[in-house]
Amino acid sequence: MRATPLFASLLLASLSGCQSLPVADPDAGAASAPVAGSPVEGAAAHDNLNAVLWMQRSAEYRAAARTVFQAATAGLDAALDDPTWDALVPAERARAAPLAGLPPAIIVDIDETVLDNSPYQARMVVDGNEFDDTSWEAWVEERRAPAVPGAVAFAQAAAARGVQIVYLSNRTAASGEATLANLRQVGLPLSPTPVFLGTGTVVPGCTQSSSSDKTCRRLLAGRSYRVLMQFGDQVGDFTAPAANTPAAREAMVDGHGGWFGERWWMLPNPTYGGWEPAVFDNAWDRTRGQRREAKRDALLLSR
Ligand SMILES: [Mg+2]
Repeated sequence: MRATPLFASLLLASLSGCQSLPVADPDAGAASAPVAGSPVEGAAAHDNLNAVLWMQRSAEYRAAARTVFQAATAGLDAALDDPTWDALVPAERARAAPLAGLPPAIIVDIDETVLDNSPYQARMVVDGNEFDDTSWEAWVEERRAPAVPGAVAFAQAAAARGVQIVYLSNRTAASGEATLANLRQVGLPLSPTPVFLGTGTVVPGCTQSSSSDKTCRRLLAGRSYRVLMQFGDQVGDFTAPAANTPAAREAMVDGHGGWFGERWWMLPNPTYGGWEPAVFDNAWDRTRGQRREAKRDALLLSR
């Protein structure tokens, strides 16, 4: 059966601002630990400095991303060969379409899953800013995001096996052309047909609470494809948690623990994501200082 070409608009990443508190590396020895009460000198503090720096300059981030994609590559053939293998949760598969006869696909998120937007985040750190739609769309239009380490080799290996790559992103429809150009430029496969499901995609018979919720678009993909694997950097890239709270997010992961590293593949992203507003009640109208205070209060001083 030939797949129905899914083409959609795109959309704006639910990139949110920044942050991450400085935490000493316990493996680095006492010499690297911050000294309590020491004065802060030099550049102005920014909550996202360490997180962005880790993604850009640590070999550990590269190794972590490669670990994910190489392990997934090793599991491709088993997923392909089992006609009952599916990476949609059963409730979503039941709402989509029966598996029988559907061609295989892999659903990937884009930002911080296959494309690395850390240069944009780095500019926020250097300029002392936070994410906003205008600067984000300008960055997307540059079309210069590099690939996440390991992503291209994996996607090409899947495409070589006849697997459709479905790019399911929260980028805006208006950025579709630039996004596809960026994907193509880094070597990510867009064949046999570009399938891009961005926010604003109309899915007949499906409504949801927010434009960033990917459920309806996952169902749309599931109507045309057997989904071998899903890749993301947010829990909502796989199936929606009951709410954006720390407890609900953890419950989603714990409830599907066996799928991670098998059908679901999570990329590390310490620079933004639903985990951050979850600890300040999703109240983005709070000042940066208030949000920072809430995040400090969320730290666990013992476990
Ligand atoms: Mg993402």
